[in-house]
Amino acid sequence: MKKEMICILCPRGCRLSVDIDTLEVLGHSCPRGTQFGPQELTNAKRMLTTTATIVGAIHKRIPVRTTSSVPLDKIFECMKEIKKLKLIAPIRRGDILIENILDIGVDIIASRSL
Ligand code: SF4
Repeated sequence: MKKEMICILCPRGCRLSVDIDTLEVLGHSCPRGTQFGPQELTNAKRMLTTTATIVGAIHKRIPVRTTSSVPLDKIFECMKEIKKLKLIAPIRRGDILIENILDIGVDIIASRSL
């Protein structure tokens, strides 16, 4: 049995066909597709970008992101933790706002200075 998916690692968007039993990948145009397909089936991950509350800055929210991709089943919990943040300016781009969120080895950092 095969699972069809689109590789999202680059704008080319190859249409992948992944064998659910053997994890063999067809349809990829580069080796990254052979890694993405099986990972998407077994442990799908995404980078998380969102905003957090900040006071004392020209904007009320500051863009934040994860330092690496997060398992899909942890995204909602990460969002809840980020929602709890009440940051005070100044914040510099790259500042670690939450270290090792949910103990998954990923930090939440500021995407810009405010
Ligand atoms: S398989 Fe390679 S070329 Fe195709 S979308 Fe993925 S990263 Fe891009």
